Amino acid sequence: PRLANQIAAGEVVERPASVAKELLENSLDAGARRIDIEVEQGGIKLLRVRDDGAGIEADDLPLALARHATSKIRELEDLERVLSLGFRGEALASISSVARLTLTSRRRGAAQAWQVEAEGRDMLPSVQPAAHPDGTTVEVRDLFFNTPARRKFLRAEKTEFDHLQEVVKRLALTHFEVGFHLRHNGKGVLGLHPAGDQHSQARRVASVCGPAFLEQALPLDIERGGLRLWGWVGMPTFSRSQADLQYFYVNGRTVRDKLVAHAVRQAYRDVLYNGRHPAFVLFLEIDPATVDVNVHPTKHEVRFRDSRMVHDFLYGSLYRALADVRP
Ligand code: ADP
Ligand code: MG
Repeated sequence: PRLANQIAAGEVVERPASVAKELLENSLDAGARRIDIEVEQGGIKLLRVRDDGAGIEADDLPLALARHATSKIRELEDLERVLSLGFRGEALASISSVARLTLTSRRRGAAQAWQVEAEGRDMLPSVQPAAHPDGTTVEVRDLFFNTPARRKFLRAEKTEFDHLQEVVKRLALTHFEVGFHLRHNGKGVLGLHPAGDQHSQARRVASVCGPAFLEQALPLDIERGGLRLWGWVGMPTFSRSQADLQYFYVNGRTVRDKLVAHAVRQAYRDVLYNGRHPAFVLFLEIDPATVDVNVHPTKHEVRFRDSRMVHDFLYGSLYRALADVRP
C-alpha cells in the first residue's frame, strides 16, 4: 500500500500548491466559514490549514487518512462523478505518504478534539486527545522528506509560495462567503473577510487582483437566454506586469478552457486589442444540465452541450460591454 500511495501521490501531490488545493477543498466541503493557512518556506517545510467546518468524529480520523476513504459518496450519481475524477478519497492518504501529516479535529458540538499522525505512511495507530476548537486542522510538514527525487523538482521557496498563493486566490474569488487568511513565514499575506454584498465582493477582488485592477475594471452583469455572465473585466489598455490575471468560473468552478479563452480574446481583439493580455474575473452561470465540468480532474476544461451558443454569448456580452466604454 505504501508504494501505491506514493504512486497516487504523484498525481495529486506535485508541489505545496497542490497540497494546499486539496486541503482547502476539504475545508470548503466541510462548510468552513473561515480558513487560516500558515505557510513556512513556500509550504515545503510547513503547510497548516485550519478551518471551522463540521469536523471529523474521533472514530473516523484514521479512516480519513486511509485510501479510498471518502465520506462524500452518497449516491450512485455521486459515485459516477467520483470515478470519473479518478483519485477521489485519496488526497489525505497520498499527502501523508510523502510528508509528515497531523490531522486534528473536533466535531461540531463534541466534548473533545482528537488527533492522528502519519509519517510517510507509517501511521501512528493511536488517536490522541487534543486541544482544538470546532473544526479541523491539517498540518503537513517536510513535503517529500522521504522521496528525494521528487523533492528535487521543487523550485525556489518564492516560486512555490506564488503557486500556493494563486491556489488560495482562485478559490477565494469563488467563495466570497468564506474568510481566507494566509500567512507566510510569520507574515500576513492575505486577509480576506467574508464578503456578502457587492461592495465587499469588489473589495475582495481588489485584495486578490490588486487595487489597480479594480480601479479601471468594468463591472459586468448580463443575463440572456438563461445564461448569466457577471464580474469585472479590465480595460483593453490595462496591463499587468507579471502574471496573467485571468479568472473564469463556470458555476463556481475554475475553468481554463479553449472555447472560453477564444471568446474572450476575440472580443478584446475586435474592440481595441493592443497585444496585451486581457485581465478579468468572470463568472458564467449556466444550467448545470447543459455543461460537464468534470472532463478532467486537473485540466479545468469544460464541455458545453451548446458550445456555439455559449461562445456567442460570451463574445457578444464582452464585445458590447467593452465597445460601450471604448475611449
Ligand atoms: P475526499 O475529499 O475525496 O473525500 P480526502 O482524502 O481529501 O478525500 O479526505 C478524506 C476524508 O476526510 C473526507 O471525505 C472527509 O470525510 C474527511 N476530511 C478531510 N478534511 C476534512 C476537513 N477539513 N473537515 C472535515 N472533514 C475532512
Ligand atoms: Mg478531498
